[in-house]
Formats: sequence, structure tokens, C-alpha cells
Amino acid sequence: MKIVDSIYIDGAFVAPHGAEMFDLHNPATADVIGQVRLGDEEDTRAAIAAAKRAFPEMARTSKSQRLEMLARLGEALTTRREDLIEAVIEEYGAPISRSAWMADHAINVFRLAAQTLEGYELERQIGTARVTMEPLGVVGLITPWNANPGFIAGKLAMVIASGSTCVIKPSEMSALQTQIVAEAFHEAGLPAGVYNIVNGRGDVVGAELSRNPDVAKISFTGSTATGRSILRSAADTFKRVTLELGGKSPMVIMDDADFEAAIPFVLNSGFGNSGQACIAGTRILVPSRRLGEFEAAIQAGLGAFPSGDPRDPAIAIGPMVSRRQWDRVQSYIRQGQAEGARLLAGGEGRPDGTSDGWFVKPTIFTDVRNDMVIAREEIFGPVLAIIPYETDAQAVEIANDTDYGLHAYVAGADEDRARRVAERIVAGRVIINGAPMEMSAPFGGFKHSGIGREYGTFGLDAYLEPKAVMG
Ligand code: NAD
Repeated sequence: MKIVDSIYIDGAFVAPHGAEMFDLHNPATADVIGQVRLGDEEDTRAAIAAAKRAFPEMARTSKSQRLEMLARLGEALTTRREDLIEAVIEEYGAPISRSAWMADHAINVFRLAAQTLEGYELERQIGTARVTMEPLGVVGLITPWNANPGFIAGKLAMVIASGSTCVIKPSEMSALQTQIVAEAFHEAGLPAGVYNIVNGRGDVVGAELSRNPDVAKISFTGSTATGRSILRSAADTFKRVTLELGGKSPMVIMDDADFEAAIPFVLNSGFGNSGQACIAGTRILVPSRRLGEFEAAIQAGLGAFPSGDPRDPAIAIGPMVSRRQWDRVQSYIRQGQAEGARLLAGGEGRPDGTSDGWFVKPTIFTDVRNDMVIAREEIFGPVLAIIPYETDAQAVEIANDTDYGLHAYVAGADEDRARRVAERIVAGRVIINGAPMEMSAPFGGFKHSGIGREYGTFGLDAYLEPKAVMG
């Protein structure tokens, strides 16, 4: 049993005032592997006060001082890479290759933020005005369990680049991963109070951050429902917000698509991060005249995406993070069948060869209509819905007929035509034919997928306030 019994305030690991112990699980076995002692409102206020004290000095740091801090944080995390990979596998259940990517991403975001800051004009002349980009103050950073280290690192990197200070409220279900990140950051030796970390429940620590008048901004990644409640309480004190929320992203298969090339793209986009991904391409729009051919191709491709023990290098899909998440995915699989969708692969229950862990069968429904619940709600598991369409215009209409607008994907042989479809989809990012992610491009969603953008210059803009001085 691993016990995480401290939080990080004012440059030191301290015992929280909160006394509640929260179980941590290995999702591949369902065993309790540790416990975290949760902070409370009083701990949150102490962390906010420390960040507030540290702000005036942090706000005055030069660009080169901030670049140095970013480099130190990245280097410190690099030294704990292997420990972080192990914690991601043990506590989150991500397959080995994904876990390594997650640890590397958390390290790389510091370099990316440094690149952005280097090219960023913190002072600009606009006509007769001298415009300076001012840091905001204390920022509350709230992260989800599906990529907790990467979100902590990505948000902290922008706080440092902007000259603000922060209180981090990580996912309470990811405390072992958070602990490694916190220990690594401590070794980077930043001034006390610049960042503080309080483990705790969302409706306790997260809620205090969202309403506390000394917090200037909230950067939140998580569900749309929680994002809405944060937005409401942030309004009272006019907090700036960046909200990265849910998705129900379309994958448009054009009628000229080469299925052999498209299927790995479709399955990687749908089943990446074991389906627990906000950007998952879960609505697969397929031309009706090629539906049978597509169904056969995707069934054949499924063999490369086995679900099971995350430590087995052949495994592509790990367990769901919790019993609750497993139950939720099962209930959507039941609902899809009840709604009249046709089960092409998978279904309820655990995959063969797995027992106690929260494993789900990779599941594909076909003959799905876009008004079915499985096409409208975010399932957050390896469950995909094939929706037939007739024309390109109809494909775009279905793609946009959703509350969400985080991400989209297009697969087609004629790239100009695929690009024209991409241009008409309302989403923060569109990927054509499996192109690699550009990490400095803005990331975020339209509609209920959130407010604002992260990464690159758009991400840094969101942590700065322009101030114009004339005369
Ligand atoms: P969640 O909203 O339940 O929790 C996210 C974080 O918010 C956790 O740290 C939680 O403790 C905290 N929280 C909960 N209630 C709160 C409250 N009232 N006030 C303040 N904070 C509160 O989400 P989750 O289940 O951890 O993560 C899954 C969700 O995250 C999915 O909907 C997914 O789409 C979304 N997500 C979005 C992105 C993105 O970048 N758009 C990325 C990953 C995950």
C-alpha cells in the first residue's frame, strides 16, 4: 500500500488539514493499491495565500528567468520518467506504449512552452501606446484522471511562462502520479509558493478555487457538467476561464477513402487512450453505398486492438479507470442495443482472458442514427458508432449536429475534397488522413466542448491581460 499523506504548499510537503483518506486502485486488478489523504477548503485557502504572496516577485521575472524555470522543471521531470511511466500503468492502466507517451508528453510541454515564450512579444508598441502583456495573478489548475501528469505539466508551464503563480488541484484518482510529478518539481527549486498542489475532492478543493476571490483564473480540463458549474461560480468574481471539456468527435470517411489506410486511423482515433479520450473519434460517418465493405474492413482491423493487461506490449486498450467508469460504459452498450443499433463487435461484459480488472470489449455499433443516445453522449470508453450518410453535404450536417465541437477527423483519397469537408466542420481541431498532431497549434473546443484554447501562442494569450500605456 502506498500512502500519499502530504500536499505541497509554499515550497514544502505538508500534512493537510483535511483528514479524509481516499482509496487508490489498480484498474487492471481492481485492487486497492494505496490511499491519499485529501485536503479541504482550509488547505486550499492556505495554498491560495502562498501563491498570492509569491505573485508580485513572479510577475516581475524576466523572460529569460521564466525560460530557465521551464527548463529546470522539464529536466527535473525527465529524471523521474521511468517512475512516472510505472505509476501511469499501475494507477491508470494505460498500455505500456501509451504510458511512455504520456510521461514524455508531460516532459515535452515545458520545452514547447519555452519555445512559445521565446517567440512571444510580452511588450508591443501599438500606435502611440506601449502595450504590456500582464500576468493574471493566482491561477487555479484543475485536471482530470485521463492524462493527469500531462495536464498538470501543460497548465503549469503556461503559468510559469506568463509570470503568474498557481494552485493545482489534480484528479483525486491520480494521486500516485501526482506525487511523482510533485517530487520532481520540488527538485527544480522554484521560489516557494509559485506553484502549490492540493489533492482533494472536486466539490471541496475545486469548488473553493472556483469561488475564492483571490483566484484570478481557472484552467480546467474535465467534463462538460463540471465545466458548467465552474463557469457559474467563476462569474461572481469575473475569473478568467479556460475550459477544456468533453467531445463526441466525428470521423468522416469520404466515399473515395482507401479503407486499408483509413482503418488504422479510425481505430487509433477511436480507441486511443483506451477510449477514455476527450478527442476520441467516436462517430464514424460512412457512405451508405460502401457500408458493408467498411464493416468488414473494420472488423478485420479490430484484431490489432486487443483489450487486456496494460503491461502486455501487444495490448492496445487497457482497463477503464474505475468501477464507476466501467459501469457507465456497460450501460451505454446496453442502451445502444435497446435503441436498435446493430452490434458489429464487442458488447457487454469483459473480454476473454481478463478477470477482475475493469476491462471492456472493444465495441462497435453500426446502423446508428445520430439522434440515438450512443451518438450524442460522450461514453468515454472504447465504444464506436457507425452512422451511414448519402452525400458530402449530409456528412457535414451530421458531423455538426452535436453539442460538442472539440475535434474531428476526415479520411479520403482526394485531399482537396477532404480539406473542403474539414473546413466546414465546427471543431477546434481537424485531422486529415492521420496527419501528426501539431503540438503548438491551438487546442480547445467550440460549443459545449469548452471556452478558450491551450498550447502555443493562443494558449499563452489566455494567461495574459494586455495593458496599454499612452504618454
Ligand atoms: P470531472 O469533470 O469529473 O473531473 C475533472 C476534475 O474536476 C477533477 O479533478 C475533479 O475532482 C474536479 N471537479 C469535480 N467537481 C468539481 C467542482 N464542482 N468544482 C471544481 N472542480 C471539480 O471529469 P473526469 O471524469 O475526471 O474526466 C473525464 C472528462 O474530462 C470527460 O468528459 C472528458 O471529455 C474530459 N476531458 C476533456 C479534455 C479536453 O482537453 N477537452 C481532456 C481530457 C478529458
